[in-house]
Formats: sequence, structure tokens, C-alpha cells
Amino acid sequence: MLVVMKADATEVEITHVLSIVHELGLRPHAMRGATRTAIGITGNQGAVDPSHFENIPGVSEAIRVTKPYKLITLDLSPEKTIVRVGDASIGGPELALIAGPCAVESRAQAFAVAEAVVRSGARFFRGGAFKPRTSPYAFQGLGEEGLRILAEVRETYGLNIVTEALDEYGIDQVERYADMIQIGARNMQNFSLLRRAGRSPLPVLLKRGLSATLEEWLMAAEYIMIEGNYQVVLCERGIRTFAQHTRNTLDLAAVPAVRQISHLPVVIDPSHGTGKSYMVPAMAKAGVAVGADGLIIEVHDQPERALSDGAQSLTLDQYSQMVDEVMNIHRVMMSADCFAV
Ligand code: PEP
Ligand code: MN
Repeated sequence: MLVVMKADATEVEITHVLSIVHELGLRPHAMRGATRTAIGITGNQGAVDPSHFENIPGVSEAIRVTKPYKLITLDLSPEKTIVRVGDASIGGPELALIAGPCAVESRAQAFAVAEAVVRSGARFFRGGAFKPRTSPYAFQGLGEEGLRILAEVRETYGLNIVTEALDEYGIDQVERYADMIQIGARNMQNFSLLRRAGRSPLPVLLKRGLSATLEEWLMAAEYIMIEGNYQVVLCERGIRTFAQHTRNTLDLAAVPAVRQISHLPVVIDPSHGTGKSYMVPAMAKAGVAVGADGLIIEVHDQPERALSDGAQSLTLDQYSQMVDEVMNIHRVMMSADCFAV
């Protein structure tokens, strides 16, 4: 059920509807837009009777939701969500640049990369302290020591920190040091982790699963939002296909496909989406051209020595050149007013 309030509904009228939803033993999710507030209702097993709401002052209409989505949908919030991350945001007119190494390897490495990406205008720093590796013998990340280094990067460069949590305990730790929780591709359907992220005060970067359909990815976002955290950014990072010329197949059509259904911002990860550094700038530009809200890019001061994902990491110079190129595309998109693809 979706209760759409009239454009001139008062705060008292909105609060009244929220309390009725609570009295029915259900959970209201109020989305306050520029033109109207809509209240999504979850917690019901069967259909909710619209007559509970139809004649309440301030209510414009009560609509039965027939789609699988209740909270990610444009029906609930027709304007794009702008997600606050520390002192910056994702989903507004600025292109969000999230850059940094795959993994935090040392203080010196993190600082060298941070110094370079901040010079090119990044507002967000990525870097894994907990790494989901295919092999248990591969570098697993520095753990809490990595988080402490990330916190120092924030302190020194004013960058907002995006870092992955692999499990619920990891979220407790990430919350102490970072600005945004990354849920990795391999965890996209870890439902208890999604629910825990939904109870976090931090925004969430939700990567698409290795073989997830659009619907499965959006339902994963619903898991987070149903717990009350509406600050979710989707990340297309490539899916597994028969192609052998790339590590994954970057599904750029996911951006307009999401836009058609959801108010959540979408960022593109051309690093994992290709696995090859020489392809990253081209696919980053393509991502901006299809209307992505941002890019997440792996950068390393010495990619050949990286402890993870060196082959897809840009050097500091390559990153700076890529930013010049993507910003040109972004400016064209903005001036042509086609950024809301
Ligand atoms: C990463 O960002 O380094 C990472 C492990 O990403 P993904 O979950 O998309 O593989
Ligand atoms: Mn990586």
C-alpha cells in the first residue's frame, strides 16, 4: 500500500497517517519529496484495505502496490534520491568520483593514492580493509588497522570514506571509522547483512551480484530500506557472462533500466566491470554518457605491486587523465540537460 498525501498536507496530517499505520501493526516509510509526501507501508502479509486511509484529512489517494517493489520505486518517490555521504552527496548534479585502491595495503600506499585523487577532485575515497577473496590464501585486507588508516585519510584529505563490510560484525567496525558501507557483489543476497545495513546510520553502496538480475538487485535494496535506511546507492560492477575478453561484462544498460523503475542513484564500477586498466577510462566515459551518478575507480600508486586487483587499477597519472576526460563528458551531459536520462 502506498498513501500519497496532498501537496498541501500539513505535518500534523502526515503524522496522523503514520500513527494509523503503526496502530494497524504495520511500518510506515515516509518519503518527503519536493511536491508531495508519500508513505510506503510494509509489514503486511496480505493486501491492506485502502479504506483505512482514503477519507483521512490530507490524503490524496491510497494505492495498492502490485509490483514487487515498495520502497525503491518511482511511485513512492518520483524525484531522484540524493544520498548524503559525509559532507558530500551522490545523486545530485555533481558527478561523484569514488577513487582509491582495491585494498588498503599500508599507510604510505593509501596516502599516496589519496593525495593524487583529491588533487583531481575526488570527494570520496575507496579502499577495502576487509577483502572478499576467491582464495583464502590471498591477501584478506588489513582489518581494523586498514580502517584506522582510512580514518586518517579522511582526517588529512577531507575525503569521505567508502569501505566494504563482509559481515555484521564488520558493519559495527566500519560504522566506527567510515562514511559509507559497501556491500560487495558476493554479499548482495546476504539477507541478514542487508538488514543490518538497513539499521545503520551510514549510507550504503550496494553492488550488483555476479549473476543478479535487475529485479534481484533492486529487491536487495528493498531489504536495506525496509529497515529504515533509505540512503542506498546502487553500483553496477559487471556481471558474469561467456565473454573472455573482460573479467566481467559491464552492463551499462542497467543505468537507464534502473532509472525507469527507481529513484535510487546508480554508480558505475568500470574497474571490476572490465578487469583491465586500459579499458577503464573508455568504460568510465561511457558510464557517464548513459547518465550514471558517479564512478568508483580503483587507483594504485604501483599497480604492478598491488596485493589485489592490480591489473584493473589505474596509475595516478592515468586516473588524473581519466578524470579530465569524464568531466568533459559530464559537462556536455549537463549543458545538454540530458543528465536525467
Ligand atoms: C571491490 O570493490 O574491491 C570489490 C571486491 O568489489 P565487488 O564486490 O564488486 O567484487
Ligand atoms: Mn577490487
